[in-house]
Amino acid sequence: MVVLGIESTAHTASVGVVGDGAEILGLSSDMYHPPSGGIHPREAANHHVDLLPGLVEAALEQSGVNPRSLEAVAFAQGPGLGPCLRAGATVARVLALSWDRPLVAVNHCVAHVEIARVLSGLDDAILLYASGGNTQVISYGAGRYRVLGETLDVGIGNFLDKLWIALGGTFPGGPAIEAAARDRTNLLPLPYSVHGMDVAFSGILTAALELARRGADRADIAYSVETTAYAMLTEVTERALAHLGRQDVVLGGGVACNERLRAMVRTMVEARGGRSFAPPKRLCVDNGAMIAWTGLLGVRAGMRVDVERSAVRPRQRTDLVDVPWRDPSGR
Ligand code: AMP
Ligand code: MG
Repeated sequence: MVVLGIESTAHTASVGVVGDGAEILGLSSDMYHPPSGGIHPREAANHHVDLLPGLVEAALEQSGVNPRSLEAVAFAQGPGLGPCLRAGATVARVLALSWDRPLVAVNHCVAHVEIARVLSGLDDAILLYASGGNTQVISYGAGRYRVLGETLDVGIGNFLDKLWIALGGTFPGGPAIEAAARDRTNLLPLPYSVHGMDVAFSGILTAALELARRGADRADIAYSVETTAYAMLTEVTERALAHLGRQDVVLGGGVACNERLRAMVRTMVEARGGRSFAPPKRLCVDNGAMIAWTGLLGVRAGMRVDVERSAVRPRQRTDLVDVPWRDPSGR
């Protein structure tokens, strides 16, 4: 069974072709880089419309798969930016109709979780999903992914991007902050904002910008922001392990590319006798392979959607979609 998947929820247009054992047969991506500031949804959508046909062609060519032998065409239905989602969904509908293949709608967050989970080989891990627009601690239970804790304001990646742009840098901020913070040790005071299982970042943003205004070194700010924000994520993830009696953690989402976050989570998990896993970076950031793989899991479980009922859902939450491919009594 081979499925083609289209990702277009935000800045990245990407097409993946994935086989039965999650083998990535083809993957072709292109990220929209705004000339200045953050992402403008319509401009990002125009980028996706322009590039997706070529990305489909490239991913198929890499895979050597004939489109008519695909099992299905999958697309990211939500959550994400409306115009960007519609660009990917439109391409997916056209392909499904012209190749006469079923269409499968995939939740973007569940896709981040599923690709990380299959690569990890860890079956009852707690999932830390840290990306641009989303930040959630997740566990499977009774047919759905349950959100145990999450950001109360912005996603951690959007927070890092916004901070870096305000400090004079360019999008994406996360990797640039990581590079600036490397080898730094001067920890400046920032609000540590954990509320039970939830976290918040806007107070750190305000405080970090105030430090900058008072002349603090940009690399010291980067180091302090990473230390504080990643400690918050590590704390809520550890609390999830403790409460649910679990040992292992799987990381996903673009911010899971970060070596510091990976190391902090690994230190915490190993101290508790468990294992932590993060996928290779090209599969942490938004990518079509995770949509194809989750689509494949869905098709195997009998999921498909009629074109007429395939509207995008910009606010679709992780815990609102069924996960019929997992054992409902499992965890
Ligand atoms: P996603 O939305 O999952 O594609 O992730 C994109 C987000 O990941 C952006 O906000 C990036 O700034 C962030 N990101 C990518 N690489 C890194 C990194 N090495 N450290 C921190 N954040 C990162
Ligand atoms: Mg994402």
